[in-house]
Amino acid sequence: MLRVAVVGSGPSGCYTAQSLVQEDPGVCVDVLDRLPCPYGLVRYGVAPDHEKIKSLQNNLRTVLEHERVRFLGGVRVGADGIPAERLRELYHAVVYCVGAATDRHLGIPGEDLPGSWSATEFVSWYSAHPDAADAAFVADARSAVVVGMGNVAVDVARMLARGVAELSPTDMPQAALTALADSRVADIHLVGRRGPSQARFTTKELRELGSLPDTEVVVDPAELAADPAYTDPSALPAAQRRNVEVLRAWAEQPPRRTARRIRLRFFLRPVEVLDDDGHVGAVRFERTEPDGQGGVTGTGRYEDIEAQLVLRSVGYRGVPLAGLPFDAERGTVPNLAGRVLRAGAVAPGEYVAGWIKRGPTGVIGTNRPCAKETVTSLLEDAPALLGRELPEDPLTALRAQGIEPVEWAGWQAIERAEAELGATLGRGVVKLPDWASLRAAAGSALPPDLVPDFPPNLKPDLPPDLPPALPRDLR
Ligand code: NAP
Repeated sequence: MLRVAVVGSGPSGCYTAQSLVQEDPGVCVDVLDRLPCPYGLVRYGVAPDHEKIKSLQNNLRTVLEHERVRFLGGVRVGADGIPAERLRELYHAVVYCVGAATDRHLGIPGEDLPGSWSATEFVSWYSAHPDAADAAFVADARSAVVVGMGNVAVDVARMLARGVAELSPTDMPQAALTALADSRVADIHLVGRRGPSQARFTTKELRELGSLPDTEVVVDPAELAADPAYTDPSALPAAQRRNVEVLRAWAEQPPRRTARRIRLRFFLRPVEVLDDDGHVGAVRFERTEPDGQGGVTGTGRYEDIEAQLVLRSVGYRGVPLAGLPFDAERGTVPNLAGRVLRAGAVAPGEYVAGWIKRGPTGVIGTNRPCAKETVTSLLEDAPALLGRELPEDPLTALRAQGIEPVEWAGWQAIERAEAELGATLGRGVVKLPDWASLRAAAGSALPPDLVPDFPPNLKPDLPPDLPPALPRDLR
């Protein structure tokens, strides 16, 4: 058998495992994850109210339950974990599907003031990620600024506007539900540095903002008109044209009296997060104008938007994994059709798929063809890879090193504990939000001497000084 390790159990890892076992009956796959829970961003990134997308977990589950696939959770690879070199010894091939683990920075003064968060921190909190900050994101906030015009920005704006009746049936952790239910945030400003025709959200997600109870979407017609493509959107690609049409309809509607407003703002780039007595008080933006080439230039005119909560939603970023090459500019591992390149040459037996291969773009389904391409490369290389004899079952080798992975039974025990927690709260499934409760639940499926020993608060390898995202007009 060709023994393959897939590192990461998000969509790209699961689609890679699926493609491997479907295309070759002589392959067995271990899917490793540093968390005891599978599914990556489907569990910890997709917004809780997007139940249809979340139900993709059922498809990914069938992959991880395949007879030639094994889930090994609570196993860290890289620094402070199993070194990449050791993994190469234990398997014929390793496919890294580790995603893009951090957020891009704005690189502006005040960005780190209390009350200014990356959208990923906020998403992790309401998604019950065990590394999430236990913070009062919305306490005392009346106005929130979300910087960025992608689908994550739309997700966090929508979550801020949702009421308890809509959030309660989700699997959101109880503390986040209580905090959002008590939230007094009434104005949510979603701010883009370019125009409406360049926003990155998809139309389905945009439209959803218009159907939120007791929430009005406000669009300034003058800001739309500043985009040359607005007056004649016929030349735009269909997706952008649809966005512009939705925005036009909102700009033309009469004002309503609602409890909350989502204000979509364009041609404003953030230049500073302003301090109000040691806490975020506002964001200063410079008005921009189109440069005729898809970018923008500054006008020297400024506008401050009051906010006690700032969510920076300007994209994810891949982080280096010890022992693997890394392209710091792109935030990806250099590769050729999924084969890892070391100093420009193919590294035999090492592969990548998903965001760490192509960058943080596309929807979940984009990972399917991406994984398939990598698997095609790997299976082409299989005859050469099989030439190497492997020492023993990798699970035995991991245990000999003192690593006790959370296997499928451990994950199922976590699922049961989440159903039980939900029942005691009078809700459906409610996620366990911290390492201690995950560990206790996973351990309940095992004899005491085999209780997994994943550290209580293991963070991913985040280099302290990632370069800030470069404003588009400076690229
Ligand atoms: P994204 O789509 O890349 O959007 C990033 C946004 O941040 C853009 O509007 C970008 O503006 C802006 N930005 C970047 N640097 C900036 C700066 N220095 N100052 C001001 N604005 C800046 O990223 P994302 O929203 O994190 O989404 C990541 C991926 O996940 C996307 O492919 C997305 O579709 C996907 N996703 C999908 C769903 C869904 O399907 N429901 C949900 C969540 C995420 P410019 O365009 O001017 O660079």
